[in-house]
This record gives sequence, C-alpha cells and structure tokens, in this order.
Amino acid sequence: MKLLLRFSSEMSKKPLIAEIILETGAKINIDRADVEAVGGETVLDVPDEKYEKVVALFRSKGIEPILLPTPILLDEAKCLHCGACVSVCPTEVFGFEHDWRLRFDAEKCIQCGVCITACPFFAISLMEGI
Ligand code: SF4
Ligand code: SF4
Repeated sequence: MKLLLRFSSEMSKKPLIAEIILETGAKINIDRADVEAVGGETVLDVPDEKYEKVVALFRSKGIEPILLPTPILLDEAKCLHCGACVSVCPTEVFGFEHDWRLRFDAEKCIQCGVCITACPFFAISLMEGI
C-alpha cells in the first residue's frame, strides 16, 4: 500500500523511516522523497501485512500518514489517448492497449507529478489522500 507522509523541517532531521523499518521489520520502499528547507513529502510503498503496524507507529511518532489507494486519477472522459503521458512517466505507469487506447497501472505511480503538466487535456490529477 502507498502512504504519503508530509513532515516539517524538524521532523525531516529525524531518522523516522529507518526507525519504523527496524521496529516493524517491514520492507518499506521509498518511492519518492522531496525534502526542502521548510519540510518534505515522501511516498512509501508498505507491505500490506505490515500496513496497520506501520501507520500506528508513524502516528505515535507524530506523523499522520495519508493512504493513497490510487496515487493518480485519470479522467477517462477527458483523455484523448494522445500518449503525451506515456514517455514522460519514470515508472511506466502508462502504455497502450492493442487498439491504441491508453492503459494505466496506478500502482506503479510514485506521485512525481510530471504527467500532470504533460497532459494537454488536463485528464490526470494527483490523489490527495483520504
Ligand atoms: S505522477 Fe504521473 S508521471 Fe509521475 S509516476 Fe505517477 S503516473 Fe508517472
Ligand atoms: S497525456 Fe492526457 S490525453 Fe494524452 S494519453 Fe495521457 S492522459 Fe490521455
């Protein structure tokens, strides 16, 4: 499962993810990490069986993780299957079906946001979490 973490600059100085990996034994993959002076944002891929434990531990350390059931949303009514998103995505979320219609595999998305600006028809948006 994908989790989005947003943290302050103070929090970013702490090895929270390393602590959680050690404490839970979860093989967490860091899909994306953007860290700036004022704070940061990270997308983690957490094994399903460790999800609840990982979320509870983040909460106990002062971070509220946001579940991303699907990191991106595609508005199929707006998509004209032009393919502009296919080449820019670093994780090959997009491709074409045999009939040249767009297919996408949202599970591979790391929420980098590149496809949002690449799509000329504003068909893609990032899920903000629920
Ligand atoms: S945000 Fe778009 S470009 Fe980035 S990984 Fe997800 S689908 Fe690919
Ligand atoms: S760039 Fe936009 S319109 Fe073009 S295939 Fe991708 S989602 Fe569809």
